[in-house]
Amino acid sequence: MNRPLQRVAVLGATGSIGVNTLDVIARHPDRFEVFALSAARSVDKLARQCEQFKPRYAVMTDESAARELAARLASYGLQTRVLAGPSALVDMAEHPEVDSVMAAIVGAAGLASCLAAARAGKRLLLANKEALVVGGELFMRAVREGGARLLPIDSEHSAIFQSLPEDPSTWDARVEKIILTASGGPFRRRDPASLREVTPEQAVAHPNWVMGRKISVDSATMMNKALEVIEARFLFGLGPERLEVVIHPQSVIHSMVQYRDTSVVAQLGTPDMRVPIAYGLAWPERVASGAQALDFRALADMSFEALDAHGHRERFPGLALAWEALRAPGGTTAVLNAANEVAVQAFLDGAIRFDQIHHVNLATLEAVTASNPATLDELLALDAQARAAAGESARRMSH
Ligand code: NAD
Ligand code: MG
Repeated sequence: MNRPLQRVAVLGATGSIGVNTLDVIARHPDRFEVFALSAARSVDKLARQCEQFKPRYAVMTDESAARELAARLASYGLQTRVLAGPSALVDMAEHPEVDSVMAAIVGAAGLASCLAAARAGKRLLLANKEALVVGGELFMRAVREGGARLLPIDSEHSAIFQSLPEDPSTWDARVEKIILTASGGPFRRRDPASLREVTPEQAVAHPNWVMGRKISVDSATMMNKALEVIEARFLFGLGPERLEVVIHPQSVIHSMVQYRDTSVVAQLGTPDMRVPIAYGLAWPERVASGAQALDFRALADMSFEALDAHGHRERFPGLALAWEALRAPGGTTAVLNAANEVAVQAFLDGAIRFDQIHHVNLATLEAVTASNPATLDELLALDAQARAAAGESARRMSH
């Protein structure tokens, strides 16, 4: 076989998506080679990954963790070079020898490296939805101008991408709407009035998916779905009125596309992130992912709930903010994302209650006016302004 090895930089390698990515890569040594791995500060985990995959580079965002990692790798006799700081993430994302970048850092912290990969025309496997929600049009322009190949890794967006025609210029004319499915998370049946008592441990226990803490809290508030609606808006270019959400607790259908003739095309599978990861890595080919296949004989049922039923609007008030932010001036989605990142952290730190996450988001949207940031610097300034306002509002609510 003479297929060239695809050289991959996995940014956020020690997280839930990073670990699943390396699991898929390890199944195909004839196709993929790990060029770089990165983590914020988990030395042990990154050291073990370096031992297994022997990358050319390892990046630690935290400087002292980087020194510790370098000493550890030297003691193993590894050639891997250790780099430190956020700028090293950008260097890896645009490195001329890198073919593909897995963007699996959590939060807006991943934006700069995503933009760098886009501008450098990489195959960009985008798990980091916050980067797209913040970057919006600016990010999509960088993808177009850099000639990057953007492959969504979020399971819903991978499902939509797989259900759409190959040629994006046909989407607007052929597609009626996109329907994102949502599990409803751990509190789908919970009395809205009791959400104030939810603890971080309860909020991160998702019924169907094992994920990082931030996205798990977002799934419990359904802010994750709000971010995904915004993500879909930018990825697929349809207006917000053509993006719908339906609750589907079993997470078997990962999302759907409804065409002009009412025909619906969906993608199904077991809830295992290795499926969209393998799809992104191998596209347009298909390779083994390690996931269990669906067993239709054992599938008891698939059910669906409208957002307007069962008190969902009251239980998940944050979801509607997606459409509001998309209809507001450009940059509003960045404000919403910053507020939510700060609010979720404050909740995980025990500073605010679960139901107050939404109140911080609302207060921040009210306090900060977005006005179409045109450059990365303007965007980062808006992000910082929104974080300050959200921090202020969380402190006021703090018990
Ligand atoms: P996680 O918390 O498990 O891992 C995050 C990774 O990013 C870790 O490697 C961590 O070291 C690194 N990191 C954290 N903060 C950083 C910073 N400030 N600078 C540099 N690196 C940093 O998160 P996850 O669940 O793997 O999610 C990663 C991204 O993928 C998120 O944007 C999430 O929304 C998205 N996503 C995750 C899933 C899932 O199943 N976990 C599904 C869809 C989308
Ligand atoms: Mg998702």
